[in-house]
Amino acid sequence: MMDKFEKLKNIFPAARKDVSLRDYCTFRIGGVADYFLEVENSDELEKVILFCSKNDIKTYVIGAGSNLLISDMGFKGLIVVYRRKYGDIKITENSFELIGEDVFKIELDASFLLADVVSQFLSLGFSGFEWAAGIPGTLGGAINGNAGAFGSSISDNIYEVDVLKIGKEEVKKNRYKKVACKFVYRSSVFKTSSDYIILSGTFILRKKDKKIMKDEVNNILKKRIGKYPIGFSAGSVFKNYEKEVDKKLFKKYPELKEYTEKGVIPAGYLIEKCNLKGTRIGDAQISPDHANFIINLGKAKSDSVLKLIFLIKKTVKEKFGILIKEEVKYLG
Ligand SMILES: Cc1cc2nc3c(=O)[nH]c(=O)nc-3n(C[C@H](O)[C@H](O)[C@H](O)COP(=O)(O)OP(=O)(O)OC[C@H]3O[C@@H](n4cnc5c(N)ncnc54)[C@H](O)[C@@H]3O)c2cc1C
Repeated sequence: MMDKFEKLKNIFPAARKDVSLRDYCTFRIGGVADYFLEVENSDELEKVILFCSKNDIKTYVIGAGSNLLISDMGFKGLIVVYRRKYGDIKITENSFELIGEDVFKIELDASFLLADVVSQFLSLGFSGFEWAAGIPGTLGGAINGNAGAFGSSISDNIYEVDVLKIGKEEVKKNRYKKVACKFVYRSSVFKTSSDYIILSGTFILRKKDKKIMKDEVNNILKKRIGKYPIGFSAGSVFKNYEKEVDKKLFKKYPELKEYTEKGVIPAGYLIEKCNLKGTRIGDAQISPDHANFIINLGKAKSDSVLKLIFLIKKTVKEKFGILIKEEVKYLG
């Protein structure tokens, strides 16, 4: 009798066994996946998810792996990588539907890289994704975590999202209107469970002068170069803090008052004030340049990163009385 992998390989010849996941995430950390498959179109994605559901194979879909900390223990099941190669998509004027005065709608596959979307929208003069310049990752990952930067986020332009919902008995295709996606700062209904597979997103965009857009994108890229450290990481480890802090702290930390008035306290500020920049466990280090980044200096273990995350949460809690929460998703 064929085992599970042989059955999988029979239908999806590109499926592989015992694949190291460290090469599939920007942290370059992670153990081995029992089974592994890269897919590039939604039909194949749907087919493999259905197959695994029927054959009792646990699945987890990743995009570019730029917001993930993967356990050194790896994954017992099938990792599906859903992303296109850079430069592999072509968006044209015909891809857009005019739905109002100067307002357009476009459906994009979740496998598209943000970098491709930004550059193609720019060359066609459709505005709405300029904030995403310089952010690694796919649309699927960005919708899942409601990615954003400089005061904008992907949910600003979302109209609806097409997903596969994995249930106990069946896999169903659903269309979620924006309100049903429950987008909040760096989260959505999709982030809270791995039962949602994002197939595509439909976005509302407006036409804009290309020269103005180009200047905006260049400004954002310039800001990012100075702001974010170089090295293997998964971007910001923690979400910024949006609730109240004890006002007694304002005397010692006047910046806290300013941040509170603006409604957002950067996690990096809190970690920096705990004097944790540069702290190292094994090959994992809190970046000396940006306190909300943990860098893999070479051979960091997932455990070392988790220990740093624990240390940060504990120290920030002791000093400021608040609990900061992870933005990075842990797969383990
Ligand atoms: C240097 C650096 C800078 C960054 N800067 C920013 C920033 O400014 N703003 C920001 O918001 N983020 C930033 N990030 C984080 C990251 O790039 C984004 O969150 C990105 O959108 C994640 O996309 P991904 O394809 O890499 O997702 P992955 O890391 O592959 O996955 C993240 C989560 O999304 C899920 N997922 C992925 N694809 C799908 C799908 N099709 N269906 C269902 N679930 C899916 C995965 O299961 C996982 O839970 C940065 C990361 C790095 C390394």
